Amino acid sequence: MSNTDKSRTAATGTRIVSAGRRKEWTGPVVNPPVWRASTHLYENTAALAEGPRRNEDGRFFYGRRGAPTQWALSQALTELEAGAEGTVLYPSGVAAIAGVMLTLLKPGDVVLISDNAYDPTRTIGKGLLSDLGIEPRFFDPLDIGAYEALFCEHTRAVLLEAPGSLSMEICDLPELARIARGRDAVSVLDNTWASSLGFRALEQGIDISVMALTKHVGGHSDLMMGSASAGPELYGHLRQRAQQLGTVVSPDDAALALRGLRTLHLRLQHETEAALQIAQWLSRRTEVAQVLCPMLPGAPGHDLWKRDFMGGCGLFSFVFKGGTAAARNRFVDALKLFGIGYSWGGYESLALPIEPANYRNRMAWPPAPGDARDRHGVRLAIGLEDANDLIADIEQALIAWAAG
Ligand SMILES: *Cc1c(COP(=O)(O)O)cnc(C)c1O
Repeated sequence: MSNTDKSRTAATGTRIVSAGRRKEWTGPVVNPPVWRASTHLYENTAALAEGPRRNEDGRFFYGRRGAPTQWALSQALTELEAGAEGTVLYPSGVAAIAGVMLTLLKPGDVVLISDNAYDPTRTIGKGLLSDLGIEPRFFDPLDIGAYEALFCEHTRAVLLEAPGSLSMEICDLPELARIARGRDAVSVLDNTWASSLGFRALEQGIDISVMALTKHVGGHSDLMMGSASAGPELYGHLRQRAQQLGTVVSPDDAALALRGLRTLHLRLQHETEAALQIAQWLSRRTEVAQVLCPMLPGAPGHDLWKRDFMGGCGLFSFVFKGGTAAARNRFVDALKLFGIGYSWGGYESLALPIEPANYRNRMAWPPAPGDARDRHGVRLAIGLEDANDLIADIEQALIAWAAG
């Protein structure tokens, strides 16, 4: 039975263990070896002449088209993304988003970008794409009427992200994708938060699913990578453009990403349960105005998350009841088990002070309804520590918030 036969019927853990492990790539060992290669050697000149003509996945040619370590990772990600024909790897998540945009858009086109997208994604729109004569239009993904009204005859692509960066609201992804398809625009989802395990993007009507593998798939805060998975036609375009741009990832990093992938479901399960426990605890605290965690009943977007998603992760935010930015920063500084830093999806917990108002054109912050003084937020990325220990740490740091 091939991996692909198994991939549609078996449970997630079973599929993750076998994904991408082709005999011709692994040989007798369990993990695909690290194939460090620029030159691929040919038997003779006739085989050499054949090379450029047969530009197919899994064929030796030259290092820029990868070798078995990268192919194994691509294939594994494709097997985990129902409806995908293939997956292109990029040297970072941002490179994946830029690579996808440079595939879909040309001067004169319009791209709609979710106003709560990851800030570097917004910058791709305002910087790179604007410089190329492509117009980015930002929209509130919770206002479907306003979104629909932004389409014009030049709209070629829609860039979505859920939950929203920092503010964590969930939008109606199937509906936004359906509207895009009706207007002949390609829908692209940054699916880093849920991953293909938690949201089946292509099955829900999204055309291209992007992940920052830097986060959950890598899982150990030691590599940068991105991916884009799509059905046959768009995958062909993405692959061609990536080759034109010279996009290639290191085989060492691909091997690390594959190693991370094998435990993805277990890490997500632990993080989701721990995050929910911590979110519930925070929601009962008088210091906290609002917990922004899609998995938490009553939180913004919870109903859509329950309807459309199959899982969550450890990343969520909360907003203090009143207080100052200095008090919020005292809280973050007082945490002992949380590192202070960007990124997430690693095995270690992180905390970040957040000011979403700086990254929005259309959406309001603080999130309604509430007191305008409840605006100082923190984003937590819950790792693999024990949830009760993390709660005790947060509890002692709340004393620092209240003092002063
Ligand atoms: C981190 C992140 C990215 C970018 O990934 P990098 O590998 O850091 O470039 C894109 N989207 C989301 C939602 C992210 O969190």
